[in-house]
Amino acid sequence: MKTVLVVEDELKIARLVRDYLQQAGFAVLEAADGASALAMARSEKPDMVVLDLGLPEVDGLDVTRRLRAASAVPIIMLTARSEESDRIVGLELGADDYIVKPFSPKELVARIRAVLRRADATLGGGELVRAGPITIDIPKMRVTIGEDEVELTATEFQLLLTLARHPGRIYTRAQLLDALHGVSFESYERSVDAHVKNIRRKIEPDPRRPKMVLTVYGVGYKFADA
Ligand code: CA
Repeated sequence: MKTVLVVEDELKIARLVRDYLQQAGFAVLEAADGASALAMARSEKPDMVVLDLGLPEVDGLDVTRRLRAASAVPIIMLTARSEESDRIVGLELGADDYIVKPFSPKELVARIRAVLRRADATLGGGELVRAGPITIDIPKMRVTIGEDEVELTATEFQLLLTLARHPGRIYTRAQLLDALHGVSFESYERSVDAHVKNIRRKIEPDPRRPKMVLTVYGVGYKFADA
């Protein structure tokens, strides 16, 4: 059974999410503030964190930053409609996905499953993908450039893998979201940009002049064709 840590200071929402996740077959841990969330993540090692960005004291972005510094645990942010810039920052800090309040618990469960599937993509096969200087070991979810291993989140890994499998092929943001979620949400297309920015920071010698993950203006992205 997968364990989800739900971090939410609004009791009503926390209960709703807890009940729904339990019905969906997840074990649920709860924290109502950032400090206890971080302590619980350390001691209980959940498989997933669902994190409200609007928390008292230590805010959700700080929690994201500190969680990411310590582990690759998948993070889905809960955000208010007005927090658009915060969710872009959250994605840049390495959160995997977000969902905007008010949300349907059913959609949250679908997102959790999609993100966990990506994180679990370690199973099966012995497949290697090579593109440019990059080697992607799919079962091990390991990306290397020469001898150096690159630490990517599950989302960044899936995005890079999608692009690198077909160098030269152009993907729209909606197609890349499809590869991540199985469903595309037009309003979320900007989140692809944040993930690409993270990937470039990690793999490109000069992230401002990318040689691997290239922008196709007005369309989307492609991996450089050799
Ligand atoms: Ca809140």
